[in-house]
Amino acid sequence: MLTIRMSACSYFRLYRRVVHLDDFQGLMKDTYGLRDTERGLAATVAWLAEEFGELAQAVRKGTREEQLHELGDVLAWVASLAAQLDLSLEEAVDRFKEGCPRCVSSPCSCPDASMRS
Ligand SMILES: [Zn+2]
Repeated sequence: MLTIRMSACSYFRLYRRVVHLDDFQGLMKDTYGLRDTERGLAATVAWLAEEFGELAQAVRKGTREEQLHELGDVLAWVASLAAQLDLSLEEAVDRFKEGCPRCVSSPCSCPDASMRS
């Protein structure tokens, strides 16, 4: 019995759902792209800012479920913005593929880890 439970735990620990950012971006474009494009970039940025505010509030005093919900909303609006700018989210995060773009290590060994430019 113990062995079976350990196997199940190992399975779940090893299981990872792989979602490619471009696929997510494409799904958001298919789902909301036309409407978002009609609203325009300014409205998209405004919605994204509003969702960031809701995320900040959820981080401060929300439940884990509310935080997850708001993170999803922010990601959806970031994906919409990238699509409207004709930019790829995967390309955008590509500069982090070796870890920190500045010191090229992971974890970052820069003196001030808050600087990501
Ligand atoms: Zn660094």
